[in-house]
Amino acid sequence: MDDKLFAAPRRQMVQEIAIHAANTGKKTGKETLAAQTMEVMGKVPRHEFVPATLRPVAYADTPLPIGYEKTISQPYMVALMTDLVDLEADDVALEIGTGLGYQAAVLAELVTKVYSIEIIEELHGEARKRLKQLGYANIETKLGDGCHGWPEHAPFDAIIVTAAPDLIPPALINQLKPGAKMVIPTGISLDTQQLMLVEKDSNGRITTKDLLPVSFSPLVSDAPTALG
Ligand code: SAH
Repeated sequence: MDDKLFAAPRRQMVQEIAIHAANTGKKTGKETLAAQTMEVMGKVPRHEFVPATLRPVAYADTPLPIGYEKTISQPYMVALMTDLVDLEADDVALEIGTGLGYQAAVLAELVTKVYSIEIIEELHGEARKRLKQLGYANIETKLGDGCHGWPEHAPFDAIIVTAAPDLIPPALINQLKPGAKMVIPTGISLDTQQLMLVEKDSNGRITTKDLLPVSFSPLVSDAPTALG
């Protein structure tokens, strides 16, 4: 399908993201999202990151199934998480939970380098293929357990976790640069999950803030956890 076909629904999706951000702004502190975030949401071809049969609904502001009981995240959530970590052009970002690669592509439009880890081999392979076809040369993906982070490329200017652990993996806290932010859904049961903003200040001190209820699929891991 031609990209032109998707231009109008993508514009509509961006408008819905703006409305959603305004409605949840009191909780998230982000009544409006940065112009650069909205611009990228209006640019990245979400229809390239969903199964072929779901292309006609690719720009609905909702999560969609991508197989293996996983979903591509809701566009509003992708925009919000991207916005919350305050990206700059020369940043290096880490994503946990590549899925089919949509959030990684959004990040890649905004920063110099994106590292993304996925634990399901088939999704990892599919994401790699799609990102390569679309020419995203500044994304490196890896098959593995993201709870360990990616020590070889740490520390990171931003970390976005798109699956929910019950407790925050300590490796991810360790791999955050001083002054950097991480956004992560946490909570054991779906009804108690919260999107959390974690900040490490210039002295390495950690603060956390619960922002809003969310429902991400679980972060699967055998790694030990400490901080909650
Ligand atoms: N970021 C994706 C959303 C993917 S859904 C997007 O842009 O739409 C969350 C993904 O996290 C799933 O693909 C799941 O397999 C993956 N996941 C779960 N536990 C993981 C772990 N420990 N390490 C890496 N990926 C994990």
